[in-house]
Parts: sequence; structure tokens; C-alpha cells
Amino acid sequence: MHELTLARNLIELACEHARAQGADRVKRIQVRLGVLSGMLKPLYFCFGPAARGTLCEDALLEIEEVPLTVECPNCRAVKVPHTRYSFRCPTCGSPTPKVVTGREMVLVALELEASDRKKRRRPKRRRAGRADDLAMDNQAGERIR
Ligand SMILES: [Zn+2]
Repeated sequence: MHELTLARNLIELACEHARAQGADRVKRIQVRLGVLSGMLKPLYFCFGPAARGTLCEDALLEIEEVPLTVECPNCRAVKVPHTRYSFRCPTCGSPTPKVVTGREMVLVALELEASDRKKRRRPKRRRAGRADDLAMDNQAGERIR
């Protein structure tokens, strides 16, 4: 049920922001998900049902998948491994335990709609200046799921 929990956490966070902004509907949610999370399809799948009855009902979920990059201690550079589950430098073959990107689960932006009373021509768009971290993992080398 991990993916359902993730979907619910995301929805809760989005609803919190919406309420704080005085909006009564979330139109669009933009999320950044690392490939290592394995949550791309599960999140799309769970989002609709989990959002039912909340401010996020019928919101458009946009997920940007973030590729895996690792830091090679030998080359002292950020590299893209040959496969998403390979933790070796593609240049020199050194083990690269340090993941730079690929694990993140971040709420990037929300598009909100105000209630009829204070309806505007354009929906209010809020950018989370510092993205809110939804991550539940962070153990080095461990996949979420
Ligand atoms: Zn290297």
C-alpha cells in the first residue's frame, strides 16, 4: 500500500497549500519523481481514486521523471550510469554509491482555483519556492517501494 500512502501524502500536502491560499480546488499538481522511486505508474494509478472527495478531485497530475545521476569519487564528476540500477561510473567503472538525483519525490507546483465568490479570470498559480519534500526514503542505495 506504499503507493497509496504516497498518493495520499501528496494529496494532503496539496490540499494544505490550497486551503492556505484560500483556494477551493486544486487544478493541477506538478511533481518531480526520481526513477529510483519506482512510483511513476503507481502514483498515476492511485492518484485519481485517492483524490476523490478532496480538493484535489479531478486535478491533473503531472509527473516529471528525474533520471539517475551519481557522483564518481574517482572522476570527481557527476555521471549518468548505463542503467538506472547500475551504480558504477560509466567512464572509469568505479563504484558510485553517492546518488545525486533519482530518489527525489517533490511537489513542484500547484495550480489552484478560487471559489466562485472570489473567482478570477485566471487560476491562481502557486510555486512552492522551496519544493516540499514528500520523500520517505533516503537510505543510501535503497530503493523506495
Ligand atoms: Zn569515474
